[in-house]
Amino acid sequence: MNVLNAIKMSKLGFVTSNFPFLLQYHSQDIPMTCPLCATPDTPLIPVPVPGGPADASVDLCGICVDQMASDTPNPDHFRSLATTMWSEDPAVQVLAFRTLQKIDAPWADDLLGQLYLDDDTRAWAQNVVAESQHKDANGVTLQTGDTVVLIKDLTVKGANFTAKRGTAVRGISLTDNPAHIEGRVEGQRIVILTEFVKKK
Ligand SMILES: [Zn+2]
Repeated sequence: MNVLNAIKMSKLGFVTSNFPFLLQYHSQDIPMTCPLCATPDTPLIPVPVPGGPADASVDLCGICVDQMASDTPNPDHFRSLATTMWSEDPAVQVLAFRTLQKIDAPWADDLLGQLYLDDDTRAWAQNVVAESQHKDANGVTLQTGDTVVLIKDLTVKGANFTAKRGTAVRGISLTDNPAHIEGRVEGQRIVILTEFVKKK
């Protein structure tokens, strides 16, 4: 069981019945197929797709979330783009385009040549985010999709838990305020002060 599943299950709790080994899932927590890499039966995490419509996001598997933050995505993870780039969701098309651009392989160049984007979607895909003003505790620039680690315990207002020092927050998003980022901790989306995080 991976960490994400463990967290989900601990949140969901076990349903006690005559069959205690059966788990009751909320419908939204049923693992789905990743729309980018086509990995089936995997928990998905919402990832913002900046540069276009506000709040645009795509639910991706954990591996894709990590790969989105990389300048050199692993080509082997993305061979399914040959199929998934034809998604009808423009946000998926944008991620497919940006990922293919980063992959240095003939097959990726071929797919880029085939990928049709309408004008709006192409402009979105090519709208590379300007240099971020968000900096971590060490002054390192933070970008959407980065993974950060909390450097102190943070009490989450309005939610009944403390985010522990050392907790990794994957797939952060930036806010209008350079002192704030947003990320998901224990399944809850929270605002975190950049001075309390370190880029991983
Ligand atoms: Zn994926």
